[in-house]
Amino acid sequence: MSGQDWFTDGARVSVLTAEPVGRPLDYLAPEGGCWAGAFVMVPLGPRKVLGVVWGAGDGDFAAAKLRRVLQVMDVPPMKAEMRQFLMRMAAYTMTPLPQVLRLATRAPGLFDAPGLRKIYRLGSGEPSRMTDARARVLEVLRDHGGAGFQLGELAALAGVTTSVVKGMLTSGAVVEADVPRDAPFARLDPSLPGKVLSEAQRAAVARLEDGSGGFAPVLLKGVTGSGKTEVYLEAVADCLRQGRQALVLLPEIALSSEFLARVEARFGAKPGEWHSGVTQTERRRLWKATASGEVQMVAGARSALFLPFRDLGLIVVDEEHDTSYKQEEGVLYNARDMAVLRASLCGAQVVLASATPSLETWANAESGKYARVDLGARFGASKLPEMRPIDMRNESIESQHWIGPTLVGAVIERVRRGEQAMLFLNRRGYAPVTICRACGHQIGCDHCDARMVEHRFMKQLVCHQCGETKPIPTQCPNCKVEGKLAPVGPGVERLAEEVRERFPDSRMAVLSSDLFTTARALKEAISDIANGGADIIIGTQIVAKGHNFPKLSLVGVIDADLGLQGSDLRAAERTFQLMRQVAGRAGRAETEGLALLQTYQPEHPVIRAILGGDEEAFWRAEAAQRQAQHVPPYGRMAGIILSGPDLKPLFDIGEALSRQSGPLREIEATVYGPAPAPVARVRGRHRVRLLVKADKRAPLQAALARWVAQVRLPNNVRLAIDIDPQSF
Ligand code: ADP
Ligand code: ZN
Repeated sequence: MSGQDWFTDGARVSVLTAEPVGRPLDYLAPEGGCWAGAFVMVPLGPRKVLGVVWGAGDGDFAAAKLRRVLQVMDVPPMKAEMRQFLMRMAAYTMTPLPQVLRLATRAPGLFDAPGLRKIYRLGSGEPSRMTDARARVLEVLRDHGGAGFQLGELAALAGVTTSVVKGMLTSGAVVEADVPRDAPFARLDPSLPGKVLSEAQRAAVARLEDGSGGFAPVLLKGVTGSGKTEVYLEAVADCLRQGRQALVLLPEIALSSEFLARVEARFGAKPGEWHSGVTQTERRRLWKATASGEVQMVAGARSALFLPFRDLGLIVVDEEHDTSYKQEEGVLYNARDMAVLRASLCGAQVVLASATPSLETWANAESGKYARVDLGARFGASKLPEMRPIDMRNESIESQHWIGPTLVGAVIERVRRGEQAMLFLNRRGYAPVTICRACGHQIGCDHCDARMVEHRFMKQLVCHQCGETKPIPTQCPNCKVEGKLAPVGPGVERLAEEVRERFPDSRMAVLSSDLFTTARALKEAISDIANGGADIIIGTQIVAKGHNFPKLSLVGVIDADLGLQGSDLRAAERTFQLMRQVAGRAGRAETEGLALLQTYQPEHPVIRAILGGDEEAFWRAEAAQRQAQHVPPYGRMAGIILSGPDLKPLFDIGEALSRQSGPLREIEATVYGPAPAPVARVRGRHRVRLLVKADKRAPLQAALARWVAQVRLPNNVRLAIDIDPQSF
């Protein structure tokens, strides 16, 4: 570090805190001085808050009036590149810097006074008296007690007060201990022999090695099972050999024990893990170890981007097209895009891996902004599943049934051979519509304009738009006639009924996110299926993710047209990605796969693209359409989300905003809406959205800032800007 980064005793420094004061404030450096980037405690009004020394103070305040930094925390200072990253991210996402800083400083317990830190573990005693609350504490401790919990965390997980936990200390059912000295992380050894790579894989690895050692984004494209993971693990090996750290981002990391095992097989030890399922004690340990450089590799969820890596040399974004990379609350950012930004600032290679890349990434590769490495066929003998349409216009099917005779025949054949079949329907619940057969009334949501979806398993109607629930009525709310309400259309729960009726001798498993209350329960269900515990698997979107079911040889898509019905301009891309991914589940190891798509429109260009081999033609056609409409990646979009307790005022404010769009007209942007936001209600608050479309070269953020600065919002209404929204 250069001499300028050090501030001597009493020097003027600017300190950024996560408090909503808007900008860094000036303080005097503490006795003994401090580094730029130091984590410090400063006085703010009557309080003491955590902050980061952002740089030299700018001095518009008399030195005599400045207060002093109270304490320098015993952790490595935040590096200049991380400060830079946070500032660039705040500017890009139009989020106040303190809010972005919070993403990088919320490592739990790190900044508590040392004396306060105790951890709580399972003891050997029995509680003197067993209550429900105590039983829940024990359950949490038994489930993942290993590293121990901090008091507040344990209480929150068990849903009890902290006094319940403390009350269990006397009997020894729970024990309290000092935070242990951090055990070292096991070393990863990149020199262990990896798998013997195929020629295609070796060529891909060589291409990645060409770009290592500096900022170089690469699209790594290859069908599911083509061996991409093995290839990027070699890029990790290369990075580790250079003594730098590697970060692998995975969607739904909490489910990926298979990935951790593969890393261990390759490098002899597991990587550091960072996601919401990891205890605070563990996260604290990992945070420190990334800062010291002791941890060589981290596998994590999107928030792992904010870990204080000492020398980050590689970021892999696996399944880069996955929509879960977009954070839709708080700071609205896409982790894939922020990974590229972070890599550019720390001189790291960035590998975006996918079988079905986002059109954004595809276009960046096409224009030469990113390099592109293709892995052609599947690894080894396993072949891509054959994909065929089933033209539903020719299938004779009873009403209230959705599995046509052709698909039924195929399922029977596979199950008879001892293989597994999967039926895919991207619709949670029992039936999407509940209609009154007396008056035709459809049960709608009282809070937004969506229809309520029956969930028979939960015995409720649920609004998928806003999350509102209500009991399933027996009487029509409109005409008051009893017993005439009927479900219309299929959801996975109803499909399960049909499967039970048609294949009574088969074992069935239903995978739908709402049927599992914990990630662990879902993980267990998945591993049970992988071990052959079911013949027929029924699932929603979650089955499309990279689970490996070796016996699965048939995928039947119940309604391939489903995703094409909305007005979203990304519908074609999403349907293409989802269908390809789902089909890719079939036929991995020794079995040959078949994917059958039930469709009423086999001539639809998207359906034809899914079935036909020419993916590039699909991307090109899709790109041409987006170009013609000036939408991303060829134009820019931003959402303005207004949220508040009542719907009507939100629309009024939205209308007013859209009438005052002068600053946007200056950049020739177009405003659409207001309309209900894609997620129309969150925790009791309604959400209304305006969409702004601008030219790619337009200074969109600046114009948006001028625009929204004009509005005066009532106290209970909030405004958030969503740069690059997921749906438009
Ligand atoms: P992808 O990430 O493209 O879906 P994977 O890397 O998961 O593909 O590879 C698919 C399967 O093939 C995995 O079970 C993996 O272990 C296996 N595999 C890939 N490459 C090799 C190799 N070189 N030697 C042995 N097995 C391999
Ligand atoms: Zn609703």
